[in-house]
This record gives sequence, C-alpha cells and structure tokens, in this order.
Amino acid sequence: MDFLRPASWEEALAAKAEHPTAVPIAGGTDVMVEINFDHRRPEYLMDLNRIGELSEWEVGEESVRLGASVPYTKIMEHLRAELPGLALASHTVASPQIRNRGGVGGNLGTASPAGDAHPALLAAGAEVEVESVRGSRRIPIDAFYTGVKRNALAADELIRAVHVKKADGPQQFSKVGTRNAMVIAVCAFGLALHPETRTVRTGIGSAAPTPVRAKAAEEFLNAALEEGGFWDNGKIITPSVAKQFADLCSAACNPIDDVRGTASYRRHAVGVMARRTLTWTWESYRGAGRTAYRKGGAA
Ligand SMILES: Cc1cc2nc3c(=O)[nH]c(=O)nc-3n(C[C@H](O)[C@H](O)[C@H](O)COP(=O)(O)OP(=O)(O)OC[C@H]3O[C@@H](n4cnc5c(N)ncnc54)[C@H](O)[C@@H]3O)c2cc1C
Repeated sequence: MDFLRPASWEEALAAKAEHPTAVPIAGGTDVMVEINFDHRRPEYLMDLNRIGELSEWEVGEESVRLGASVPYTKIMEHLRAELPGLALASHTVASPQIRNRGGVGGNLGTASPAGDAHPALLAAGAEVEVESVRGSRRIPIDAFYTGVKRNALAADELIRAVHVKKADGPQQFSKVGTRNAMVIAVCAFGLALHPETRTVRTGIGSAAPTPVRAKAAEEFLNAALEEGGFWDNGKIITPSVAKQFADLCSAACNPIDDVRGTASYRRHAVGVMARRTLTWTWESYRGAGRTAYRKGGAA
C-alpha cells in the first residue's frame, strides 16, 4: 500500500486525478477499522491531515461552511447556536476519542445509512461542496446518498466542505441505540423547523438503504401548520396532527431486520422519535423563542 501525503488542497486534487482508486483518510475512524479487519486493502491511501483548511469553518451571514475534516468535538463546542441539529447529532457519535478525530466529511464519505450526521444534514438542507481537477460543484444533500454506503462522488472528486444553513428555528435529533454511548444507531431522526419559510424538514437514519427525508410527512405538517395558522398563533399542535405526522414518518422508512433491530421496531421507533422531536421543537418555537425566531435568526 502506497501512502500519499499531499501538503495542499491542489496537491490532493492532482493526486486523486492521477490515482482515482486512492482512498482518502481524514480522522481514520472508519478507514482504519476497514483496513485493520482486512475489509479493504487500497493500493493508495491518501492522508488529508496536512491540509489545514479542511479542519476550519466559517460562519457567514446565512450559512456555515464546514471544512470536511472539522471534528465532531469542534461542532459541539463552537457551532451549537448555528447548527443545533448537527451539534446534537455530534454528541451522540461514539466516544470523546472518536469525536476528536471523526468528522462530517468522513461520515459522508462512508455514507452509511446509520451515520449520525445525515439526519441532521437532511433536516437542515445542507449542500456538499466537492471538487476535482475538473472543477467544483455543490451537491444538494438529498442527491448525495445514492445507495447503501454509496454516494454521488466521482472517482476523482474529494469533499472540500459542507454548507449548512444557520438555524432559523428549533432543531432536534434523536437516536435509538442499545446504550447511551459508543453505539451505532438502530435508527435516528432529525427535525428542523424553518419559520422563515414556514416549513419543516426531516431526516431519517438507519431505517432505509440510504438516509432519507419523510417528504409526505413534511408536506402534511406544512399544510396543517399553515391551515391552522400555527406559525402565527403558536398554539399547541393537536395530538391527531402529531400522530398523522408520526405515522407518515414511519411510512417513509424502508428498513431491514438486522443484528441491531427488526424492521418493524425501526418503523415504530421512527414514529415515536418523530412525535417527540415535533413536540420538543414546537414547544421551543411557541415558547419564549417564537418572537425571536420570527424576527429572523435563532434565539
Ligand atoms: C468505535 C467507533 C464508534 C463509532 N460510532 C459512530 C457513531 O456513533 N455514529 C456515527 O455516525 N459513526 C460512528 N463511527 C464511524 C465514524 O467515526 C464516523 O463515520 C466518522 O464520521 C468518520 O469520520 P473520519 O474523519 O474518521 O473518516 P475516515 O475514516 O477518515 O473516512 C471515512 C470515509 O470517508 C472518506 N473521506 C474522508 N474524508 C474525505 C474527503 N475529504 N473527501 C472524500 N472522501 C473522504 C474516506 O475515504 C472513507 O471512505 C464509529 C467508529 C468507530 C471506530
């Protein structure tokens, strides 16, 4: 196995163009497991750790540009206000050691349906900035996941950053696992309220071949909130609306039975998480935060 160590982003792109089979390594918390278990024996391993910009982030007017290698710990420490859903999801990843190394770029690179960043990125409406020597493009998160552990990257492309809109309303993330830490999700759910556009977005993890949104549930809830004037009057969401939303979220799942859980359990649990996260986010919106959110910007 040859080891490539580009010193700059340009060098990394040139190396990936020359060796499209080269496997990038950032935190290594997925790659090294695969190599140690002999599941993968790449001809070239490309270390991205000398490229400082990949571990940096910028907070702009509208969105955050998160370098591909920014570790989860930094998201939790520095971006809790701007990206609350992703910060909550980051909290649930593995252990402090893994959170100090692993990041969103690696989660996207692996594209496991169980990756914890995905539901939060789907709910927030992120875009993945990818680049090759041929040029740069932004892939909407909905189009990024193409199959089980497959993504939309071309062989010569690398992930440079992820652009995530700053929260304009409450966001939540919920995960079911067999214990509180060091656990891959049995299933997970992300929800973001977007008062500016009067919409809600969802993200479901580990309950379909790829991370998915519950689009029918979103459409139903958007219409129900609009019809009842909920965004303005801040009333409690009726139990029948919450139940219908939860049922539609369950219906958006296409899970399998595996060692972590059965398909029917996953469907059920996603419904429970959908109802709970809706209650949490809505309570936070209709409480003290509502006026602040409606003036624009998270409280
Ligand atoms: C003990 C343990 C517990 C874990 N628990 C969790 C958990 O609870 N939740 C969870 O979501 N994950 C978990 N993981 C998996 C892992 O930590 C995450 O997926 C993490 O986000 C990977 O990030 P990384 O930087 O370490 O990626 P790496 O291992 O370096 O890379 C992962 C993949 O992404 C590719 N890649 C990395 N950077 C780029 C880039 N810039 N451009 C293109 N491709 C790139 C790599 O080639 C590889 O295919 C766990 C892992 C371990 C070992």
